Amino acid sequence: MALRTLASLGSLAGKRVVVRCDLNVPLADEVITDDGRVRASLPTLNALINAGARVVVVSHLGRPDGTPEAKYSLAPVAQRLSELLGKPVAFARDTVGESAHEAVAALEDGDVAVLENLRFNRGETSKDDGERRAFAEQLAALGDAFVSDGFGVVHRKQASVYDLAEILPSAAGLLIEAELDVLERLTERPDRPYTVVLGGSKVSDKLGVIAHLLPRVDRLLIGGGMMFTFLAAQGYDVGASLLEKDQIDTVKGYLADARERGVEILLPVDAVVAASFSADAEHVVADAHGLEDTPFGAAGLGLDIGPRTAASFNAAIRDSRTVFWNGPMGVFEMAPYAAGTRAVAQALTEVDGLSVVGGGDSAAAVRQLGFGDDDFGHISTGGGASLEFLEGKKLPGLEVLGWAR
Ligand code: ADP
Ligand code: MG
Repeated sequence: MALRTLASLGSLAGKRVVVRCDLNVPLADEVITDDGRVRASLPTLNALINAGARVVVVSHLGRPDGTPEAKYSLAPVAQRLSELLGKPVAFARDTVGESAHEAVAALEDGDVAVLENLRFNRGETSKDDGERRAFAEQLAALGDAFVSDGFGVVHRKQASVYDLAEILPSAAGLLIEAELDVLERLTERPDRPYTVVLGGSKVSDKLGVIAHLLPRVDRLLIGGGMMFTFLAAQGYDVGASLLEKDQIDTVKGYLADARERGVEILLPVDAVVAASFSADAEHVVADAHGLEDTPFGAAGLGLDIGPRTAASFNAAIRDSRTVFWNGPMGVFEMAPYAAGTRAVAQALTEVDGLSVVGGGDSAAAVRQLGFGDDDFGHISTGGGASLEFLEGKKLPGLEVLGWAR
């Protein structure tokens, strides 16, 4: 079955259209540090504005606990959206309450309102079908149609992603369409060698991905926080670095499976080890087998891949025809630990073939390091969603829009 697209909704002039965007941008003291996800939402929003719809934007931001928390307010995002659209954007101080209803009722054709953070309501992410459905019904009362465009959340069975799409006439937006086009190229006969680069900090989330990727890829490069569980699986001490002790046996299994399949797993041979988690901390380069043989001993923290690893990753990536990368190689937010991520990003820009960067922090990293969106084949707004897609998993937020592999 095919994905329902905007055209399937017919004329939207004068209709209230609830749009699920992924406006989950990184914020520091209420200042947006990377507005890539807001920009990625513009094509769909402009299409709806031009169609004369009354546009009701909903999104989550961060991980509040089902109640309002000022630091997770979408207000700064609504402000940024207004600047990027070049027109006023109304902001409702709640999601399905009085303020939301007032804001929606005040919309004229082609106007836009942003509602407050969906995750200020427990129903949004509830595992209880009834509670989730009840919240989705409240959202549905604010619209005549629903457009799903938050690619970063399509792997989640949540009220505004899944249930709402069942209640209102629904279709995918242009961002989801564009993301799918690229990811399908990665899963259907990718040019080889096909290399996947994994890093970042959501280690337990991402280790599981590896089992599904091994049958599909030629090379797997491991950096970021998960490298330490691999080094531990090789019998090395990792000091105070991120480590998933209970995953060491699983990782040993991956290494054995990769050998059997002839998949090359490249692990770091060196790392940048720091005295503490800080940009001013003393830091040194250590061999992967000697991470505790530094002045910091067992207190040392591995915060980036080392220069020899960066060079070998760079070469392995440039020699590939298809590359997917999720997860920074180190704590790139601090300059002393950004070199590994920069080396990998640089290599992706030189790939003779398709290069894709996925993940909120990974996308933010390449922009922060000065790369342009055009330097890559594609920058995906979805980290977890892209990975689950590549794993061949079912994505509830896409299936509810008629899509099937
Ligand atoms: P993405 O959002 O791209 O999917 P993640 O959210 O998994 O990526 O991880 C991003 C974070 O991982 C960054 O904030 C980065 O600082 C952190 N990180 C990378 N390497 C390490 C490491 N060795 N130790 C601690 N944190 C790390
Ligand atoms: Mg992240």
